[in-house]
Amino acid sequence: MPFSELIAQDRAVSSLRSALRRGALHHAYLFGGPEGVGKATAARLLAQAANCEVPAPAGGLRDDACGACAPCRKIARGVHPDVLLLQEERVMAKAGRWDPKGGRTPSKDIVVDQVRDVVDRRLAMKRFEGRRRFVILDPADAMNPQAQNALLKTLEEPPEATTLVLVAASPDALLPTIRSRCLRVPFAPLPAAAVAARLEAGGRPAAEARLAAALAGGSLSRALALDAETLAAERDAVLAAATLDPGDAAAWLAFARDHGDDREAAAELCALLAVWLRDVLAAQAGAADVALGDLADATRRAAAALAPAEVLRRREEVQTTAAALRQNASPTLALERMLIAWFHGRG
Ligand SMILES: [Zn+2]
Repeated sequence: MPFSELIAQDRAVSSLRSALRRGALHHAYLFGGPEGVGKATAARLLAQAANCEVPAPAGGLRDDACGACAPCRKIARGVHPDVLLLQEERVMAKAGRWDPKGGRTPSKDIVVDQVRDVVDRRLAMKRFEGRRRFVILDPADAMNPQAQNALLKTLEEPPEATTLVLVAASPDALLPTIRSRCLRVPFAPLPAAAVAARLEAGGRPAAEARLAAALAGGSLSRALALDAETLAAERDAVLAAATLDPGDAAAWLAFARDHGDDREAAAELCALLAVWLRDVLAAQAGAADVALGDLADATRRAAAALAPAEVLRRREEVQTTAAALRQNASPTLALERMLIAWFHGRG
């Protein structure tokens, strides 16, 4: 059952499968939700299920793909002539699937020429072999306004037996006229436990999988991209923060300097510190299960040494720091401010 490839998206999957069973696919979907939670995979699975050649068991319509017949395999390999994928111009140019007009440098957007090529040329042709044609725009929020306007007419008057799937991490960045013509299917961030389980199933050690899941903020693709070295460095940084001596200002100012030279690393440190402080609160509440098993000793020590209200206060300071980092605060100063607030009350 290929839809089982998706983890923790039961609501989205059940609405799509129900439309397949009823033979009532919408002509345009907007799959919205964070990066790396299965939106593009769901778009591909939908195209497979709608074009799968294996008959449904009870003679009705299939609500899932077999994954093994010729159309299923062609769609998985991206070579089915009736399943078109539209990506950023420079991504498609690099893959040899598109030549920008006039030999100009490919754009980081999906541009109007690409949309016109699909709607005026490709969709004007007969279907080749599929039962239903799909156009998957991934990421649809990479369409610039001209490209979006070029797509409007097709969304209003779709060709028969055609479904457009717009995949977007920021659906609200699309023009309202585009959004209102699509059926929105929301995709949720993935629970950390589900991400960790998937990484473990792929062979990552348990402690590393849980650490990556905690850092990835509900995105499987981000978790997959975190290597063991990065994870070990982040874990050591949390351990160093956990064992800072409140009386040794020179040590914590040095810590802020050491971890403040890279904004992204500082933001990751804050994300992990927040998860760790939640573990400390859980340990204080008597929970046996913690997200960061590697740091269990430090967690126990902090749980015994700090009052729960103090742990909560420190966690709020971490979240304030994470927000400041998103708004371009200097990473070193933001971390300094956080530690001053931790160790000297409100900073
Ligand atoms: Zn099939």
